Amino acid sequence: FAGAAADEVADPRPYAELMRQWSSFHPEFSYLPRKFKIAVIASEKDRAAMRLHDIGIRIVKRGEELGAQFYAGGGMGRTPMIAPLIRDFVPLDQLITYAEACLRVYNRYGRRDNKYKARIKILVHELGAAEYTRQVEEEFAHMLAQGVEPPREELARIAAFFADPPFVDGPKSIDRSNPAFDAWVKANTHRHKHDSYVSAVISLKPAGGIPGDATAEQMRVMARLAKQYSFDELRVMHTQNVLLPHVAIADLPAVWAELDAAGLAAANMDTIEDIIACPGLDYCSLANARSIPLAQRISEKFAATGKSAALGELKLKISGCINACGHHHAGHIGILGVDKKGRENYQLSLGGSEAEDVSLAKITGPGFDEDGVIAAVEKVTDVYLARREDGERFLDTYRRIGMEPFKEALYV
Ligand code: SF4
Repeated sequence: FAGAAADEVADPRPYAELMRQWSSFHPEFSYLPRKFKIAVIASEKDRAAMRLHDIGIRIVKRGEELGAQFYAGGGMGRTPMIAPLIRDFVPLDQLITYAEACLRVYNRYGRRDNKYKARIKILVHELGAAEYTRQVEEEFAHMLAQGVEPPREELARIAAFFADPPFVDGPKSIDRSNPAFDAWVKANTHRHKHDSYVSAVISLKPAGGIPGDATAEQMRVMARLAKQYSFDELRVMHTQNVLLPHVAIADLPAVWAELDAAGLAAANMDTIEDIIACPGLDYCSLANARSIPLAQRISEKFAATGKSAALGELKLKISGCINACGHHHAGHIGILGVDKKGRENYQLSLGGSEAEDVSLAKITGPGFDEDGVIAAVEKVTDVYLARREDGERFLDTYRRIGMEPFKEALYV
């Protein structure tokens, strides 16, 4: 939603692009101990799993001044970690200098002897956040004197590529008497910084479908809609959906009607049907177990019983192995495929979040076979429905009552 959302203090994309251009082919960082991922956001809401990146940056406002909060050492994979805050305000004209200091310390001390311990999260964890920060600050002070920051004109040059499209004022509301249209607007549209527009999520999660898949014809429909109604722009989301970032509110009925005709109007964002699933054993040579058929069966089951709507926000994520491409550590409900003596088995975990209330999910206990894990998800959601208090999401109830009631339902 970057550059379109109503709640951002700035458009984070020029800063992300500045960092991309700075870091690509940077001679000092062309042989880092391992891969490195940076996320930049500019709102309280975290829609980019920011603290689960090697470096996470949140652009914030202090008085009238914009600056950056820096987090370092997050990640998923076999050793999931939440990045601690290492600096709560870096003036934006020192952004690259501070990032360079973070990378220098990692480049100097990150382990190269063991690829599983070579990520920055291990360094930050082993040194401790305070010591890592001390070293970064020392390096930062040294580099400020050297003047490595690109000139301001460079940011302005890049920002010009992210200029707003020519928005026009129009209606701020629309007739929503059609219940199906109303449900889609509620679930799939997000507030835009221009009040005559919204950002509209195209769900690639039809009940029983393969998460993130679209047919050639559906892709043509999305391309046409982007051209006609969203200034020729669509974005692929990490949630395996597609976003039309700038849709005039007046155009929503037409957009929805075309999506509906193409089988793309599922109104199920952030529900248990909106599952993130990695390719798993169907495609991936590293997998222990299949992810896709599991996602299909779960979404079909919950959609058919109508339970999905009753559950509200519930993020379920599936990975076919510990590499965690399906972000299972950060699922309200996470499922991990494991190998049990040559058979597919699934570990269930609860309580993860990749949003601003970030947390890592905890394993419930012994794993299940495919039928068993689907039944387990059902039991877990039953506990939630029985125990939730007013307005609580699944995650809130889990945090309030803890793991025990869920374990009792699963294993007793
Ligand atoms: S999590 Fe594992 S199985 Fe799934 S795509 Fe990644 S490497 Fe492959």
